[in-house]
Amino acid sequence: MSRVYNFSAGPAVLPEEVLKEAAAEMLDYQGSGQSVMEMSHRSKVYDKIIKDAEQDLRDLMNIPDNYKVLFLQGGASQFFAEVPMNMMKNKKAGYILTGQWAKKAFAEAKIYGEAVELASSADKTFSYIPDCSDLPITDDMDYVYICENNTIYGTKYKKLPNTKGKDLVADVSSCFLSEPVDVSKYAVIYGGVQKNVGPAGCVIAIIREDLITDDCLPGTPTMLKWKTQADNDSLYNTPPCYTIYICGKVFKWLKKMGGLEKMKELNEKKAKILYDYLDESKLFVGTVVKEDRSLMNVPFVCNIADKEKKDEMEAKFIKEATEAGFVNLKGHRTVGGMRASIYNAMPIEGVEKLVEFMKKFEKENA
Ligand SMILES: *Cc1c(COP(=O)(O)O)cnc(C)c1O
Repeated sequence: MSRVYNFSAGPAVLPEEVLKEAAAEMLDYQGSGQSVMEMSHRSKVYDKIIKDAEQDLRDLMNIPDNYKVLFLQGGASQFFAEVPMNMMKNKKAGYILTGQWAKKAFAEAKIYGEAVELASSADKTFSYIPDCSDLPITDDMDYVYICENNTIYGTKYKKLPNTKGKDLVADVSSCFLSEPVDVSKYAVIYGGVQKNVGPAGCVIAIIREDLITDDCLPGTPTMLKWKTQADNDSLYNTPPCYTIYICGKVFKWLKKMGGLEKMKELNEKKAKILYDYLDESKLFVGTVVKEDRSLMNVPFVCNIADKEKKDEMEAKFIKEATEAGFVNLKGHRTVGGMRASIYNAMPIEGVEKLVEFMKKFEKENA
């Protein structure tokens, strides 16, 4: 068996320890004689799996008691609609546009009410986070929406926006559990787990209790009402059982690693190795302004003026990197170039070896 260094933006690398444990339990989960894939979501055994997963997440993130934790389906993309359906009492909300995922959430909200663009970094291909200290937020807005870490463009809010007292909703898909957060600063935190937490198939939403009511927009499907899910502890219907089980294992792994403070330290160390090299390299260059760089997604391009030569060099790099065991480094189709996603489960050696490889490539192609 040989495993590659996987820099995919998602679905993405998982801790090898977690995969090994899951493999060992595949045929017989802890003496139950069944795989977790095969058991009833109403069984005692499964009940413990989902309850433990929630408790471990609460411990890791220090989630206050007045927040519910929901395990949902439909991906982050479906949650774009759930936010207005459950929160747009005044049918008006503010959106900060920092990339494709924020834009998609914004477009979805427009189906349900008045979504207002509060700020945008579209003028410079989303390579920075706009100043959010004094946004045109009005009193009648139900919430302010951000995408906290921009998976495609590689930016991250280092400071939350001043929402002028309005509820803050954050899509944290690609920075979930990468560092400690103060949950009480948000009304809703949510993310698809396939980036930094587990396999695809589940969205985790952390929602302040007072926002969970029957007062949703008319026509909101039963399944998409947060109240339905909260009243049933995420077991209104069959949840993504196996995905939640793996997420639970990742939570235990994170606890064992030392929690989110420790993850932050490790993630900063990993990102620094790559960014330091990008800053000194003559061939490669990062695409994001320094102060807004993500710890998780690192986009970069070849610093070659001639477009054709640049494309050629980038294709050559991606091809040779893949052959050397560094896979999924191709940038998002809308940005081009390269992107290295270095989530929690990417070991530091993975980043060190990638940088070694890049240095060698640079020398050979000088
Ligand atoms: C990947 C991603 C999404 C979309 O997730 P799906 O689960 O595929 O719908 C949304 N937001 C962010 C920040 C993402 O990285």
